[in-house]
Amino acid sequence: MVFTMPQLPRVANLIAGEWVDGSGADTLDVLNPATGEVLTSFRGSTADDVDAAVAAARAAQPAWGALSARQRSEALHAISAEFSDRLDEFVALEVLDAGKPLSAARDAELPDIADSVRHFAGAARTLSGQASGEYVPGTSTFIRREPVGVVAGITPWNYPLWQAVWKIMPALAAGNAVVIKPAELTPLSTAAFADLAQKHLPPGVLNIVNGYGSVVGTALASHADVNLVSFTGSTATGRNIAQAAAASPIRTVLELGGNAPVIVFEDVDVDASASLIVEAALYNAGQECMAATRLIVAEPIAERFFDAVVKNLEQVRLGETTDEATTLGPLISAAQLARVEKLIAGRPSSASLRFGGTRPDRAGFYLEPTLITGLSQDDDLVQHEIFGPVLTGQTFADESEAISLANGVGFGLAGSVWTRDVARGLRVVNALNFGNVWINTHLVVAPDLPIGGLNQSGYGKEGGQLGIEEFTRVKQVGISLT
Ligand code: ADP
Repeated sequence: MVFTMPQLPRVANLIAGEWVDGSGADTLDVLNPATGEVLTSFRGSTADDVDAAVAAARAAQPAWGALSARQRSEALHAISAEFSDRLDEFVALEVLDAGKPLSAARDAELPDIADSVRHFAGAARTLSGQASGEYVPGTSTFIRREPVGVVAGITPWNYPLWQAVWKIMPALAAGNAVVIKPAELTPLSTAAFADLAQKHLPPGVLNIVNGYGSVVGTALASHADVNLVSFTGSTATGRNIAQAAAASPIRTVLELGGNAPVIVFEDVDVDASASLIVEAALYNAGQECMAATRLIVAEPIAERFFDAVVKNLEQVRLGETTDEATTLGPLISAAQLARVEKLIAGRPSSASLRFGGTRPDRAGFYLEPTLITGLSQDDDLVQHEIFGPVLTGQTFADESEAISLANGVGFGLAGSVWTRDVARGLRVVNALNFGNVWINTHLVVAPDLPIGGLNQSGYGKEGGQLGIEEFTRVKQVGISLT
C-alpha cells in the first residue's frame, strides 16, 4: 500500500447510535503534525453532552450485559472482520492525524491493532476464578464476575486507535457500555472506528464525546453514573482524574507516564544491542511511555556503546510521514516539540550532546534523533518523561549501582536489562521497580499480556486476563444448604 488520501470521518459525538455535534461554543482544529496544516475541525462538548452519553450507555448496558459471552463475542468478531478488511483506511488516518510514518503504521501498528480487536472479541469467554464450595459450614458459595456497568475511557494522542481499542473492546467483551473521550489532538481514527463498530452493536453500547480534557474528561471522571474510568495519559492528568473520581468514588485504572531504564552490561554484543535499543527508543518518535530512553551502561564499554548508538541515529530517515522510506516522523504538536526542546536546552553544562538536539529545517513538528550523555541522576532529562526521540546516557561501575540508577526515579512503568549472563539478568529484573521488564529485548507488547505501571506510572492492568478482569466486578453469592 502506498499512501492514498482517506475520506476523513465526521468528528462529532456518538450518543445512542446518532452522530451529533458537541454543544460547546469552541471549535477545535485537528492538525497534520507533519505539515502543521489543519485537516478538519470539530465542535467541543460540554458536561451536558457527557450527561447524554452516560445516560445512553446506562440505558443500553443491562441488555448488552445480559447477552451470553458468545453473543457479545459474535458482535465483536463482526467488528473485527470489517475492521481487518478496511485496515488501509485506518493506516492513512493514523499517518495523517498522529504523524506516524507510513511503513510503521502499515507494517506494525495497524496489524497489531487488528490482532488486538480480534483477541479482545473472544477475551471474555474464558474468565476464571475461585472454585465454588463450602467455605463456611452449611453454606455453598460461588463467585460471579459481572460487568462493572458504564466504563469511561479517556485516551491519549500517542496511539489514538490502539488505546481506544484496548479500552473499548475488552470493556464491551465483559458486558459493559462505554463512553470514549479521545485526545483532542487525534480524534479521527477513533471516530472512524466507532462508526464502523456501532453498525454491529445495539445503540448506546458505544458512545463518544469529543472535546477538551478539562471539560469532557473531568465531567466523565466525576460523573456519578460512571462505574469505572480507564485512563491513559500523563501522570499530572492521572492525578486530576483520580481526584475527580474520588468524590463518588469511581474505580480508576491509570496508565501513566514512564522513563524506562535500559541497563547494558559489558558482556553484550554492542552493535546488535545498540541497534535494537535505538529502535525501541525511537518508535513513534519516542512518544511511547515505555520507550527505551535511559541508557545505563557499564563503564568499560560505555564509550563504545554510545558510539554505536550514534551510528544507528545517523541511519534514521526523518521525513514525510507519507513516504514509506521514513523511519522517524514528527512530534504530535508544536507544544510537545517545545517541551522536549526545553528539556534538551536545560541539560547541565557537564552533559554532552552526542547527536541531534535541533529541529530540522522543514515544516511540521520534527526533532532530530538525539543522544545526550554524561547526565546525573537528578537531572530533569533523567527524572522527567521526555516523550520525544531522545536517549540519555549514564554509566555504572557495578550491578548494585546499575539497579539503583534504574530505580532512582518516580516512574515505574518499564525497563530492560541487557546481558548474556542469565542469572544476572534475572537478578536485575527481580530488583527493578517497574511493571514491565525485559531481558535482551524491550517493548514486548501483545493483547494477551498485561501492561501496567507502578508508583507514578499508575495502577491497574490493560491486556491479558488481568486486563479483562479490570472491567468486571466480583460478587460473592452464598446459599444456605439448610
Ligand atoms: P498531554 O498532556 O500529553 O496532552 P494528557 O494526559 O493531558 O496528555 O491527555 C490524555 C487525555 O486526557 C486526553 O484525552 C485529554 O483530553 C485528557 N485530559 C486532559 N486533562 C484532563 C482532565 N483534567 N480530566 C480528564 N481528562 C483530561
